[in-house]
Amino acid sequence: MEIINRRQRMSSVARKIRRDQDRSIGLVPTMGALHEGHLSLVNEARRMCDVVVVSVFVNPTQFGPSEDYEHYPRNLTRDTAILTDYNVDYIFAPAPEEIYRKDFSTYVNVGGLSKLLEGETRPGHFRGVATVVAILLNTVRPDFAFFGQKDAQQALIIKRMVRDLAFDTEIVVLPTVREDSGLAISSRNLYLDAEEKESASVIHRALKQVKEAFKKGERNATKLAEVVRTTIEAEPRVRVDYVSVVDAETLEKLDKLDDRPILIAVAAYVGKTRLIDNTVLNKTKKDPGLAKA
Ligand code: AMP
Repeated sequence: MEIINRRQRMSSVARKIRRDQDRSIGLVPTMGALHEGHLSLVNEARRMCDVVVVSVFVNPTQFGPSEDYEHYPRNLTRDTAILTDYNVDYIFAPAPEEIYRKDFSTYVNVGGLSKLLEGETRPGHFRGVATVVAILLNTVRPDFAFFGQKDAQQALIIKRMVRDLAFDTEIVVLPTVREDSGLAISSRNLYLDAEEKESASVIHRALKQVKEAFKKGERNATKLAEVVRTTIEAEPRVRVDYVSVVDAETLEKLDKLDDRPILIAVAAYVGKTRLIDNTVLNKTKKDPGLAKA
C-alpha cells in the first residue's frame, strides 16, 4: 500500500492503472477517523474493483464557520493501519493546500437538492461536498465511487452531479452500518460519552416506530413525522433539529404518502453533537443502496 499526498502523483498512478494495466479502480472518499461504516464501503470496493483507493481528507469547505473543522477527529496513523489490514492499494491523503490551491475559485453547486434538509441548517455544506468530490473524481477517475446511505442527501447530490456533469464514474450507495443499539455509526459518535450514546440510540428506535406505523397503514406525513419527533423528544438528552418526510429521489416534501420511495430524514442534537439518520419506506430494487438500507 502506498500513501499519496500529491494530487499529481495520484492522477498519474491512477492513469497508469487504467491505461497500461486496464484494471478497474474503486474510490472510497472519507474524512478519516475510520469506522465500520467506512469499512463496509471499502469491503464492497475491494469486492467490485481491481484497485481500491481510499481518500482521507477533512474537507474545510464543507464545514460552516461555527462547526467542528478544527476539532474533527484526525488519526492518519490509525487509519493507515486499518486500511492496510483491509488490503487497500492506495490512501490519498492530501493537505488542504494541495486540493485548494492559491486563488481557488471554482465551486460545484448542485441546485435545488443542496438547499433542502441538511442544506437549511448547514448552508454551503453541499457546495463544499460536491466540489471536493468533483476534484477527487477528476483526480482518480475511478470506475466506481462508494458512498453511504447514512448520508442519504449527500449520496443523492453526488449522483445528480455525476449525471449532470457527465462524470465517467458509477456511484454505489451502501446501507447504513449500525451499532448493536441501532445507533448509526459516525465519526462524530466519538464526541459522545457512554450515556449520550445510549440516549442517541432513540433516533433509530424512532425510525423503526415510524416504519411500523407506515406498515399499519398510516399515510399522513405530518403524523408520521410526529411519531419520530415525540419518540425522540421523550429522551431528555436529545433535541430534534428536523424530521422530514420527503420523496426519496427529489427530496420534495410530501403530505400524503403513496407507493413511491419515501425518505424519512432526521437530524438531532445530543448535547452539542449533531447526528443524522434516515430510513426509506417503499424501497425499490432499482436502487441497490436504497433497497438494502
Ligand atoms: P465521512 O468520513 O463521514 O465523510 O464518511 C465517508 C463515507 O462513509 C460517506 O459516504 C458516508 O456516507 C459513509 N458512512 C459514514 N457512516 C456510515 C455508516 N454508519 N454506514 C455506512 N456508510 C457510512
